[in-house]
Amino acid sequence: MTTSNSPIYDLLLHGGTVYDPANGISGEKRDIAISGSVIAAVEPEISPSLARRTANVSGMIVTPGLIDLHAHFFGYFGAIQPDPLCLSTCVTTAVDAGGSGHLTFDHFNETVISRSTTRVFALLNIAGEGMVGEPEQDLEGMSAELTENKIAQRPDLIVGVKVAHYGGPDWEPLDRGVEAAKRTGTFVMVDQSPSASRPMDEMILKHMRDGDIVTHCYAVSKPMTDANDKVREYFFKARDRGVLFDVGHGAGSFSWRIAQAAVDQGFLPDTISTDLHRHSYLTNQATMPETMSKMLVCGVPLADVVEMSTWRPAQKIGHPELGTLSVAGIADVAVLRQARTHADDGLGFTDNGSSGNRVRRAGHRLEPEITIKGGSVAWDRNGLTRDDWQYTVTQDDRLP
Ligand SMILES: [Zn+2]
Repeated sequence: MTTSNSPIYDLLLHGGTVYDPANGISGEKRDIAISGSVIAAVEPEISPSLARRTANVSGMIVTPGLIDLHAHFFGYFGAIQPDPLCLSTCVTTAVDAGGSGHLTFDHFNETVISRSTTRVFALLNIAGEGMVGEPEQDLEGMSAELTENKIAQRPDLIVGVKVAHYGGPDWEPLDRGVEAAKRTGTFVMVDQSPSASRPMDEMILKHMRDGDIVTHCYAVSKPMTDANDKVREYFFKARDRGVLFDVGHGAGSFSWRIAQAAVDQGFLPDTISTDLHRHSYLTNQATMPETMSKMLVCGVPLADVVEMSTWRPAQKIGHPELGTLSVAGIADVAVLRQARTHADDGLGFTDNGSSGNRVRRAGHRLEPEITIKGGSVAWDRNGLTRDDWQYTVTQDDRLP
């Protein structure tokens, strides 16, 4: 029987500072109650007596589960399994950026997506094989129609198209990718470094559409800034016509010098993502909290950094039920600890690639503390949701 004192919530996150851009909450104290797989209540104060378990997250930052718009879980040597590096870094939803194409998507789904706790979506590579085999070079394997058909078959999992790494002289892969996206009402994420026959300005001003995304936006290989560190005018023009810019940190695609200059000149990213794969993790620990920390170091306000890592990618992939802490919504929640050092240069953040693999020192970093996916605790670094060990029952002699 339920009385007024009975717990009605499964888990209470108590005392945290909440950022939930979809609901206009920006750095305010809120308690969050979870029942089953949904957010049951978000209030300035909820009594712990109403919850079976309470985690004291005072002083910590609570946000919707992070959404990584660019990661690699299939298709080539560097791909990783989603769960170990997503759930341990407050990421509850991640998008595989082009690991599979229309020929290989089903295999990807069977072997990775359907077996992962992390919610995984896919951008379908315009190359039929995705990043398997001779990736992304075979024009004959790039069919707008077959890509369209596969997206139409699995709109629940495929959220757009990826075009990347093509070494030929022409625009065919991009134009076909755009065509497939146009026919399916989705978008293209593009990773094409400029070449003599494929200049960057032409790409972002003529070949890409409103809503299409340039990833690796602060990479030396896609130089946003000129020799005087000025953001090139055509990037602003592209932004004006609706082209979006994603961080896609990676192991060779983030330059402190470019990122800082861009932020200083008001060219912030639309979305923050990791390009997570084996090398980006080993080279730069390029997780979502780490990449978000770098944008904070550049001077982007925390509220904006959270929005770029939750609500914006949720909307971009057409899943506005994610990326929020709305009551009755899916209980995907991130709890982050803001680690600070006494000196303001006590921590090092590395960059990569042609920028020379430099380090930048700063005094604060976002650390993943708790990840809740669909109401279940998937990661709890300090056991904040657990009972103290002294409550362990005494040894039962019947057990071996
Ligand atoms: Zn990538």
